Parts: sequence; structure tokens; C-alpha cells
Amino acid sequence: MNSTMNDLPVARDTVILGAGLAGLSASRRGGVIYEKERGIGGTCGSLSIGGYTFDKGIHVLHTKNKYVLGLLSGRERPGLEKRKRSAWIYSHGVLTKYPFQANTFGLPRRIISECLEGFIGTFNNPRRKYDNYEDWIYGAFGKGIADNFYLPYSRKFWTVGARELTTDWLDVRVPRPRIEQVIAGALSIQKEEFGPNSLFQYPRRGGIQSIPQALAGKNAIIHLGEKAARVDLVNRSVVFTGGRKAYFRDLISTIPLPELVKMIDGIPSQVKTAAAALRYNSVFCVNLGVKGANLNKAHWIYFPEDKFAPFRISFPRNFSASTVPKGWSSIQAEISYSQKRPISKRSITEKVVADLISARIIKPRQKVKLIGTDDIKYAYVIYDHQRVRNLDIIQKFLRRYSVYSAGRYGEWKYLWMDEAILSGRKAAMEADRNRQ
Ligand SMILES: Cc1cc2nc3c(=O)[nH]c(=O)nc-3n(C[C@H](O)[C@H](O)[C@H](O)COP(=O)(O)OP(=O)(O)OC[C@H]3O[C@@H](n4cnc5c(N)ncnc54)[C@H](O)[C@@H]3O)c2cc1C
Repeated sequence: MNSTMNDLPVARDTVILGAGLAGLSASRRGGVIYEKERGIGGTCGSLSIGGYTFDKGIHVLHTKNKYVLGLLSGRERPGLEKRKRSAWIYSHGVLTKYPFQANTFGLPRRIISECLEGFIGTFNNPRRKYDNYEDWIYGAFGKGIADNFYLPYSRKFWTVGARELTTDWLDVRVPRPRIEQVIAGALSIQKEEFGPNSLFQYPRRGGIQSIPQALAGKNAIIHLGEKAARVDLVNRSVVFTGGRKAYFRDLISTIPLPELVKMIDGIPSQVKTAAAALRYNSVFCVNLGVKGANLNKAHWIYFPEDKFAPFRISFPRNFSASTVPKGWSSIQAEISYSQKRPISKRSITEKVVADLISARIIKPRQKVKLIGTDDIKYAYVIYDHQRVRNLDIIQKFLRRYSVYSAGRYGEWKYLWMDEAILSGRKAAMEADRNRQ
């Protein structure tokens, strides 16, 4: 891997912007990667400080894709270990298992009966296609489950109301159990697990960053610390902030679409407007070290209620013991924000610690230290009702100039890690095909 060079080669070849999973995956078919950071991995990166390792928000691998599994079991493999998910929800002062709709046991009786009544009521709903997430939630789960979990959680996580969201991102992401499963989960703790990540894999060492590291292998050509600043589609070149220039035949960009569009010279105003209208949320991570080896058995816990700052907390030690120093545990609290729902980054750590005490996750006098914070500007793509139309305008324009925009923020889709890897590969294959 090549980290810096004095002069960038004149590469009338494929230039790839971004060394996250999509860019690294694309580069397996050739091309040169330019990455703005000093390391690879992008959103699938980890921070290692003082014996602690924290990912950029919870990251677990739950793919069934044979190509991706094959890549990650090759010679550079990241040493993945299998885990059985332990995920919980803290609401109404108690912990219940995830997902909420199949595990109401333990909640106050009034809430359980509201949830059951509402769910049974959905059997009378006519089968139809819902055009917004709020209607879908009411239609699929009923009022009890909607009001006691999905709607408040959705507002907190997405930072916008569920009515503003479409339903085309749902597929397997929100599991819908059968009535007998909902009843079983209301009467006792049920053993059955739901959702695509009920079994997952996680690297033994090095955090989730081990996955991009394995993907890059030894052969990828990567220039680190090169932030693309301007793209000239006519002369087919990218200028980087340090003033260097790289020429390309094809451009595969995995950087966020709004950023790419902003840097293209002479972009039509219609495309500019469409890109500026793409919406996303951001996630601020507060990474804490906590004295004591047996803090909690969960992998993660959701917090749907507004009085708690995080939408989710996790315990990295339970993913891999290598993420903490001996005798210590750690907690990562993830807080969602956007222009619509801003947070105060300065006071958020104190609030998180107070929340952890109030939810009895840590004791009032337990030794806690702030290891660091991490601010993920582009975290989740918001599927609002204008997204498809805006994307269409942007993608049509880029295709005309053989620019392939790939990955989670290049396709502007809710892609998981395996899907980002496949997206990068698809872009590279398409570029190859169009060149012939
Ligand atoms: C909080 C959170 C939790 C997640 N949890 C999971 C999970 O549990 N399981 C799962 O499968 N997936 C998860 N994901 C999704 C997963 O992280 C992504 O699908 C994947 O990492 C996206 O890879 P990418 O290459 O498409 O984008 P990125 O990783 O964002 O790569 C883009 C790269 O471009 C670089 N770049 C940006 N601008 C420039 C520029 N101007 N010039 C040069 N380089 C630039 C960036 O630094 C970055 O390295 C999660 C995502 C988030 C945000």
C-alpha cells in the first residue's frame, strides 16, 4: 500500500474516490484510490486509543453473500468469530428483548395489553401498500406497538417524523413476527430470535476496521490524505486540496453524493438543487471506559424515549474482549442528530453519563472516563419522499460522463457492509463493460 507520493501519476485509468469498503472492493478490479483520511476503512473504521477499540457506531457482519464471505475468508482474512446477538430495549423503566413487537414481556401490563390489542386489530386492516412509514407501522403492528416504541424511536433515530419517510428501505430491516410469536413474547421471555443480525460475525482483534484491512490486502494502490476538491468532467481530472491532479478515463466515486456534486465544475443547476435536497442524519458517538470487567451481558440496548440522549448504547467487550484493557469495560453511546434535531456536542458526555446512571447501566460512583468522541457526519440516508426523484436526476447526469457513484453514500441507499462491498464491485464491472 502506498501512502503518499510527491507527484501523482497521470492515470488515464480508473480513479476511485474513497477507501471505504466500496472503494476498496472496486479497486480489486484495478484503478487507483484517493482517500482524504490518513487511514482506510471510512465508515467501517475503528479508533484504537489506550487499549480501547471503538467502531464508528455498532458494526456487525451478518451477510449470507457467498462472494463477500469468500473475500473475507481469504489469505488476508480478518479472523471473524460468530456471535449470538443479545439486543435489548430500555423503555418504561425496564429492559425487554429486541425486537419490541415480539418481546413485550416485562413491560407494565397496560402497555402489553395495548400492544396485543393493536396487533390483533391489524388483522382487520385491508391489505394495501403504504406510502409512508407511519402508516406502515400502524398497519403492520397496530397503535400500541407504534405509540410505545416505533414512532418515538423512529423520530429519535431518523430525526424526522415517520410520515416523512417512505417504506422502500424496510424489507428485512423491520421484522414482522406472526401472532403466535407476539403472544408468546408477551407471556414470557421467548427464545426465538428475529431479524437478519440475530447471528453475526465480528473480528477477533482490531475492531471492524479489520474488514477493510483484509479487503485492501497488499495489492491495492491507495493514496492517503488526498481530499478531492474539484472534478473536471470535460478534461477528466480530479484536483486534490493539496493542488495535485489525477487524470481518469472512468471515475468511481464512493464519497457522499452531495459532496461529489458540489465539486464538479459547471454542474447544471437542476443537478445541484437535487443534490442539496438529499437528506441524512448524523451520529455522534461518546466512547467511555468503565472500571470493571463484567459490566453487562448485552451487545447493545436501544433507548426509544426522548429523556435519554442516546438512541442506542453498546458494550464493545461483548463483541470482542480485545477491545478493552484488562479489568475495564467500555460503553459506546450513539446519539442521532441533524439540522432538524440538533444536539449540544459540548454537554452531551455529561448527559450520557447521567442517563447511564439513571437507567442503572452504571453505578453512581463507578469509575468512568471519556476515551473520546466520534462524529459521523453522513450516517444514515433519509428515505424521504423526494429521494428517488432527486437521485434519478443526479445519477442520469453522472452516467452521461461515465462517473460511477457507488457505496452507501454514493448510491445514497441504506446499504450494509456486504452491500457496500457489492456496490463497489458492481460499479467497477460496469465501468469495465462500458469501456469495451
Ligand atoms: C452508525 C452506523 C452503524 C452501522 N452498522 C452496520 C452494521 O452493523 N452492519 C453492517 O453491515 N453495516 C453497518 N453500517 C453500514 C456500513 O458502515 C456501510 O455500509 C459501509 O461502511 C459503507 O462503505 P462505503 O465505502 O460505501 O462508504 P464510506 O465508508 O463512507 O467510504 C467513503 C470514503 O470516502 C472518503 N472521502 C469522503 N470525501 C472524500 C473526498 N473529498 N476525497 C477523497 N476521499 C473522500 C471517506 O473518508 C471514506 O473513507 C453502519 C453504518 C453506520 C453509519
